[in-house]
Amino acid sequence: TIYRANDERYQRLEYRRAGGSGLALPALSLGLWQKFGADYPFERQREIVLHAFDLGITHFDNANRYGPPHRAAEQFFGRVLRADLAPYRDELILTTKAGNPIGPSPYLRGGSRKSLLASLDHSLRDLGTEYVDIFYHHRFDPSTPLDETVGALVSAVQQGKALYVGVSNYPTDRAREAAALLRSAGVPLLVHQPRYSIFDRTPETSGLLDLASAEGFGLVAYSPLAQGLLTDKYLDGAVPPDARAAASAFLKPEQLDDVYRERAAALNKIAHDRGQSLAQLALQWVLRRPEITTALIGASSTGQLDHNVAALDFPPLTDEDLARIDQYGIH
Ligand code: NDP
Repeated sequence: TIYRANDERYQRLEYRRAGGSGLALPALSLGLWQKFGADYPFERQREIVLHAFDLGITHFDNANRYGPPHRAAEQFFGRVLRADLAPYRDELILTTKAGNPIGPSPYLRGGSRKSLLASLDHSLRDLGTEYVDIFYHHRFDPSTPLDETVGALVSAVQQGKALYVGVSNYPTDRAREAAALLRSAGVPLLVHQPRYSIFDRTPETSGLLDLASAEGFGLVAYSPLAQGLLTDKYLDGAVPPDARAAASAFLKPEQLDDVYRERAAALNKIAHDRGQSLAQLALQWVLRRPEITTALIGASSTGQLDHNVAALDFPPLTDEDLARIDQYGIH
């Protein structure tokens, strides 16, 4: 069937500008880290991506590493872009990242000019597009001069292969240095992508939120549902067979211990008192801070997307709600 995007797709979500830039991103964005590799049926994946776009989710986050195997998520997205989304390319924000290891070669990891620019070219071929909207360095690399890494990001923009650049998982001090170097090169840092959720408040304690507002870059908060721990699916301690904790190397059933269950049950109660689900509470919580441009979620069904987008329909969290949540979050 020929895909035609929903005509009402821009009625649903809020679009928030990334820091001081002109680029607006949807309050919720979709990442292709898990279940968009060769291990999950293509038609399910395609349905999720197209449904996201129909909901107004214009921003799709990818990386050379996502699969399995590595690169499979970009190859998958390339198929959907060719078959369905090509007429909408100007309405899409596509990202890629390089720097996390994708093989034993010294050029398939790190922050060298060689690794970053070769990886970007490879990603463009896999995605079947001439440019990505945002090119990220995935993780700070202490063995490469930051000047060299930043120089590669600047070249990507100068060569027309990326419109904007970002960094991910950078310690706050390094993010400050990268932002200064990029600004003096005339290619301002658009976004930093940190992990941020009720269960990981590091961006608050590390000074990253303050840095973002001072420097004028946006924050793309990844794993806002703590990979599903901040939903009601694991509340009884059992792992549903189709859930991430059943099969992922990154979320293990051992994490569902008594301390987790107690915290999650208490947070779930707060959500219910507000007439919403734990997932919806967790997403509103991340988005309460103006420094956060977008909450970057994963999804393994269209129903999860609908449910999560509905988080934006609830009234803002009150000071009382926030104080209750503080008791059960992890600082
Ligand atoms: P989330 O914390 O949003 O977890 C998403 C997962 O939770 C889904 O895949 C699904 O898993 C489950 N889920 C989502 N909604 C619901 C719901 N309503 N009810 C029940 N379960 C639900 O984010 P991710 O950890 O997936 O990360 C999101 C994106 O962030 C990634 O795809 C990637 O783009 C980016 N990221 C970046 C990193 C970096 O280093 N820069 C590192 C990690 C992520 P399931 O159904 O399978 O249980």
